[in-house]
Amino acid sequence: MLLRPIGTRVGALASKPMAALGAAVSIGAVLSFAGPDLASAADASNPGSTQFSVNSTIGVLVSGDVRLAAAAIAPADDAATRGAPSAARAAAELPPAAVRRAVEGEIRRGDTLSVALRRHGLPRSFGPLVAREMRGHFDFRKSQPGHHFIAVVDESGELFEFRYLTSKTDGFRLRRLGNGYQVERDEATLVSRVSRISGIVDTSLYESMQSLGASPQLAQDFASIFAWDLDFSRSVRQGDGYKVLYERLYSVADDGSEAYLRPGRILAAQYDGAAGDFTAIYFEEEEGRGSYYRPDGTSVERSFLLAPMQYGRISSRYSSARRHPILKVTRPHYGIDYAASVGTPVWAVADGEVIYRARAGGFGNLVKVRHMNGYVSYYAHLSRYANGLSVSDHVHQKQLIGYVGQSGLATGPHVCFRMTHQGKYVDPMQVPRSAGRPVSPLSTHLFEGTRDILLAELGGSLLFAVDEAL
Ligand SMILES: [Zn+2]
Repeated sequence: MLLRPIGTRVGALASKPMAALGAAVSIGAVLSFAGPDLASAADASNPGSTQFSVNSTIGVLVSGDVRLAAAAIAPADDAATRGAPSAARAAAELPPAAVRRAVEGEIRRGDTLSVALRRHGLPRSFGPLVAREMRGHFDFRKSQPGHHFIAVVDESGELFEFRYLTSKTDGFRLRRLGNGYQVERDEATLVSRVSRISGIVDTSLYESMQSLGASPQLAQDFASIFAWDLDFSRSVRQGDGYKVLYERLYSVADDGSEAYLRPGRILAAQYDGAAGDFTAIYFEEEEGRGSYYRPDGTSVERSFLLAPMQYGRISSRYSSARRHPILKVTRPHYGIDYAASVGTPVWAVADGEVIYRARAGGFGNLVKVRHMNGYVSYYAHLSRYANGLSVSDHVHQKQLIGYVGQSGLATGPHVCFRMTHQGKYVDPMQVPRSAGRPVSPLSTHLFEGTRDILLAELGGSLLFAVDEAL
């Protein structure tokens, strides 16, 4: 199955600040070519990047960044893709537009202003220029880690504007005025515009999103929303589709011109892949305190069960040093022993994939289940495994995986339950246990309204499925 953009006329989201979202978001504006340039549409931390490898990804970016969208749309089918013009050429054929890009950065420990600017790819001359022009207003020898800057560079690579923020709201602004510059106190003005990106994964989600000009930050945010459902380093398959409705943040200059800064919040996201279909909605139960929910109002966050069985008595806790009952030596016990009679059912503490089901030395009969977010759970000393259970099976939370026994090094029937996180043993008592809270009953109606608007915006009619076999 292949998803294809329909023609070149796409329903673009009308650009509007987030404040207006929730009331109504209009759909159906026609693509125009007056958007910002390719460079400014690309990630601000990667200034000047105009590489859009359309060969590996079919997808569209809908927003003010229509030039980018056009570049991404071009190869609509595989045959055309193979002989596709390079992205650079596709870009070059687009009408010229004023190119202005914003670069945002932060002062780090030990930085001088110049070092920080150069780290962000800005010209060597900018540091001295800014320091000279802002003399009397701010002394950059007093720069501190965490200070923030936004440099706006014009089409010829000259500094157009420079903002230096000593706090979230306070700072100075250097603006070009005629042949010189002017300094004033500043409060950064950012506006956010809603935008949509959708595509098909070829090799990785990151590459696919970047080939559409989205910043790596967006892919990261997307992956973390679905971290409970999908392991993006393992579960992603070629042909998986995704859609993201998100805010793009622009800094606004005094003349009203805007320069793209970075992605803001993701408002809705969808992943339809071999591993399943997942949807998340951003919703603020209280103003300013939002979370991600599934369309049914439950949280995207899932939890691990406390114990791998219904009834069991903890006979030994997790500890970094205990006297081993059989070996009679002091050594760490990286698990929790639950004593129970032979044959007591043992279940998986969360959804996951069986990655081991065999004898393993002192562990006896061992089952290992890999979960999302880098967790693996171990169930040792089993008397036997659940019927039909085998490696690479997907198991659900509370699904039977085996029965309590005394196999391996064990003084009595128990299950030794262990967990690792990123390959290291962790105390199973300390792993995330509380699933995120669902939308409260009071907010249900509001949530449903928001959800329907966001999903309509997210879905649009940009892509449709084509069955290649037909
Ligand atoms: Zn144990």
